[in-house]
Amino acid sequence: MTQLPIIPTTGLRAYPPRRSAFTKTFWDGLSQGQWQTTCCDACGKQTFPPRPICPHCWSATVSWCALSPRGTLYSWTRIHAAPAVFAAESPYAVGIVDLDVGIRLACRLTDALAGDWKPGTAVEMAVLQYEDGPLFAARPATP
Ligand SMILES: [Zn+2]
Repeated sequence: MTQLPIIPTTGLRAYPPRRSAFTKTFWDGLSQGQWQTTCCDACGKQTFPPRPICPHCWSATVSWCALSPRGTLYSWTRIHAAPAVFAAESPYAVGIVDLDVGIRLACRLTDALAGDWKPGTAVEMAVLQYEDGPLFAARPATP
C-alpha cells in the first residue's frame, strides 16, 4: 500500500465525508496514510473515487489496490473570499491533479500562501489530518 505523509491540521473538516460500509475502507486507510482505490478484477482499470462497480466495464468485482501518490498539477486557484464554513482556513488553494496513472482528481493544495503553484508542477499526495479525520491533498513533490 502506498504510504502518504500525514500533516496534522487544526480544526474540523468543513464537510466531513460520508462513510458508508464501502467507503469505510478508503477513509480508515487514509487516516493511516494509506492511499488506495478500487481496481477492477475484470478489466484491470483503477477508478477514483473508489467504486463498488467498475465504470469502464460494469463489473461488480473490484479489489482495493495501491494508488500512485505522484502526479502533475493541471490547474489551481487560491480562495480568499471563502464560503462561511471555510472562512477559518482562508486563504487556501485547491487544484486539479492528474495522477501518474491517468486519474484526474480535485483536492486541497497545501502551503496556500507559500506554494509557487503553476500548471505542470510535479505534486505528491498527502493527508491533512484534521481533528475529526483525514482529507487528501497535494503538495509540491519532493525529489
Ligand atoms: Zn472493469
